[in-house]
Amino acid sequence: MSLNRRSFLKGSGALAGAACVGVPLPVIAAAASAATEKTAADGGVKYVNTTCVHCVNFCGQRIKVEDGVIRVVYPNPDIAEYYNHGICPKGGAGPFNTYNPYRIKAPLRRTNPKKGPHEDPGWKEISWDEALTEIADKLKTIKADDPRKLVWHHGHGKYLIGDQFPKAWCAAFGTPNVVHRTTTCEAARHVADELTWGYHGFLPDLEHTNLLLNFGASFYEAEQWARWLDHASIDAMARGMKMVSIEPRLSQTGAKAAQWIPIRPGTDAAMLLAMAKVLNDEGLIDEEFLQTYTNAPQLVASDGHILTDDASGEPLVWDTVTSKATPLVDGVVPALKGTYGKSQARTAYQVLIDSLAEATPEHAEQLTGVSAAAIRDLAIEFGRAAMIGSTTVIDGHKIRYRPVAIHTFRGLAAKEFGVQNWRAGQIVMMLVGAQDAVGGLGLHHVYNKPAYFEAAKCEYPPNRVDLQESVYFPHATHNVCQQVAYTLLDPKAFGLPYVPEMQIFYATNRAFSTADALKQFEGYAKTYNVVIDLVLTETASMADIVLPDLSYLESWHFAPTRWTPNSGHKAIRQPLVNAYNIPLDAWGTMWELAKRVGFQKEYVEGMNKQWKTKKVTFDPTKEYTPKEAVAVLWEDATGTPLDYAIEHGFKGKHVDTEHRYLEGVEKQFKGPGKPKMKLYADQLVGSYNTIAKTVKEHQIKNLDLAYYKTALSPLPLKEHAIPTPHKNAEDYPIYLMTYKRMYRNQAGNTALNPILNALGDSDSNFVLINPVLANELGVGEGEEVRIETRVGEAQGKARITEGIRPDVVAVSYSYGHFSPGFPDYAKKGIWINQALELHPDVISGMNSFNDTKCKVVKA
Ligand code: SF4
Repeated sequence: MSLNRRSFLKGSGALAGAACVGVPLPVIAAAASAATEKTAADGGVKYVNTTCVHCVNFCGQRIKVEDGVIRVVYPNPDIAEYYNHGICPKGGAGPFNTYNPYRIKAPLRRTNPKKGPHEDPGWKEISWDEALTEIADKLKTIKADDPRKLVWHHGHGKYLIGDQFPKAWCAAFGTPNVVHRTTTCEAARHVADELTWGYHGFLPDLEHTNLLLNFGASFYEAEQWARWLDHASIDAMARGMKMVSIEPRLSQTGAKAAQWIPIRPGTDAAMLLAMAKVLNDEGLIDEEFLQTYTNAPQLVASDGHILTDDASGEPLVWDTVTSKATPLVDGVVPALKGTYGKSQARTAYQVLIDSLAEATPEHAEQLTGVSAAAIRDLAIEFGRAAMIGSTTVIDGHKIRYRPVAIHTFRGLAAKEFGVQNWRAGQIVMMLVGAQDAVGGLGLHHVYNKPAYFEAAKCEYPPNRVDLQESVYFPHATHNVCQQVAYTLLDPKAFGLPYVPEMQIFYATNRAFSTADALKQFEGYAKTYNVVIDLVLTETASMADIVLPDLSYLESWHFAPTRWTPNSGHKAIRQPLVNAYNIPLDAWGTMWELAKRVGFQKEYVEGMNKQWKTKKVTFDPTKEYTPKEAVAVLWEDATGTPLDYAIEHGFKGKHVDTEHRYLEGVEKQFKGPGKPKMKLYADQLVGSYNTIAKTVKEHQIKNLDLAYYKTALSPLPLKEHAIPTPHKNAEDYPIYLMTYKRMYRNQAGNTALNPILNALGDSDSNFVLINPVLANELGVGEGEEVRIETRVGEAQGKARITEGIRPDVVAVSYSYGHFSPGFPDYAKKGIWINQALELHPDVISGMNSFNDTKCKVVKA
């Protein structure tokens, strides 16, 4: 049977309609079979090398296509040398997302004007031309009035085509409002890195690490770099590396560790600060590293600023040779500790030591629930394993050797004081000199952006609807995705000088994915909305027009990739099928809209700028297909023709020793005349002062200066281990945490994959409860419990396990969907986001996913 476009669209419309009323599972097999018959002309068996962009790991894949139908997904064995050895269940089951009969197959228009999380939009199928004309007309009106009134959101969409395209598109349109999802994942970790060493991203040097402290990351389940961290850490443990997992829930990663330390959620900073104190008290300090690479010896004035030389503006240290305050130049031996000069300025290191006076292991025990003895033992073990002062020779280079590292992802970041929590981790590593040492924590693009070492501009009135880098979120360099809805509810309250009128959501289920999630729906009801996605998510149900997209197995892309300590690679994604004959992917839709609205030339010029094309560039007078656009990017980046990428899927290279160890902190920070890694983040003092001044000048009412002063402390404090609900939710005795499983991502479309539902948890995600708590509550295995918090409630089945602290319950997120566009099997489980309190980290804008307290009752 072959389907022409007309009969296919007719058939697919019937399927789309059926999706709204629930279709039995066997229909999926029939739909996949029918949908793929049209490609049968492309006969025989072939294997295609491509890149999985189903989650943020971007694994190389080799895919068997038989008679035009995707049959099996394998890892690409050729890439194992550079990156992933295997793939995960999401990747293996990926074709079921492409052949999913519940996909959006034609543009849809809302007929129910009422918008809300549980309103049925009353979708009516319309033609592509009708949809694009309506959207283009709306865009033309906004562009002529005030283009800032358009807000573009993407989440996983960033990886499907690269955020360079939306950024170029929005800049050409004239809006600053491009909002990515990072504050629902790891933004605070990135910002802590940026404030400390001038860029973000790191990996433990697992080939040489002997002791790895894993603070709440779970790379055997799901997170960025998981498909490298999994095999690299297993190899490291086989070699003898010890892994200690510090986390409230025993994750898959904790289960493989030599030691599990069950810490109370939200309190990591207390443990890390206590470790810092023990390291100092025991003399397990790399003084040379602190003096030579960091700002630890710089003199801090009583107002918190670093003292500077009047003539040169350089930071001052205390020279122990001349007993004078001086910039660090050749011959100066700076004091690390102490108080000096007439102004009695302390070194930054002394400020740290003084601030740690009460941060004892005993104090940390009260907050973290981890015994003081265990904290002390771990600190001493870490300090000794660091082998302070040692070096090793690799390829003729003598390099610092510190085979210890701390790793984290959401674990330390997804908190009210996420930046300060991870700063505490970086400080512990600085104390032993572990950054960029052999076996330590390898940093990515050290000091790539010197502006990160400056006080924030603290913009007011804000230019962006998410308030990024405004007085509200001064160092939010990765957008503040959840704030858009709050601003939309009352733009004037935040001083926004315009009122947004239109939002485009590309491959993000933003409304479903943040803390305090019901508020998101209220905000999104305020504007005219367009959604581009594969399936009718909860966010799509807030749209006026929905446009289909092609899946990652159906479209072209110069794919994102992940580096490792000793390699890097460039890759593409290429189409294998077009299961439902969808004519445009998101890239094509953007191109068409730019043309219709009249900013195509500016868009193409912006593409060159955003992608930083050099030798091969986009021509503003030319029309591009997605394949031609990928050819430009591939050829510019690799100097090889696209045919190479089509055959191999990627091009890899190994990194030499110099690049691996000597071009980061060694090159950027070591010695006189260089900037210094920020043990003491003095730029936060400057940011706070600007905020205080602006608040007074503009009489800003909705910003609590006392709170900001604590939050923007130049050093992490024990207060950063006490999130607001821990202090205030007195009637809620239990800690609530969230985590992510292998079988889902936040984008929403993985929820519809029948294989993943069957594999992972066909019935439900669970409320993990310790037997002690279960006994107290009178709850048995599998019984329904209700979680009540100050903002909402959620209900689900209890899973009784000793792999969680007795005072904590844990629920994985991305479950409990309720979109009318989802089949029943995709709706199972608990939507915990509706019960999570939102106390964003005000430095970075990060969501707080692990700070809520709750009551648990038998339902
Ligand atoms: S880890 Fe992510 S990128 Fe890799 S196979 Fe799984 S879904 Fe695909």
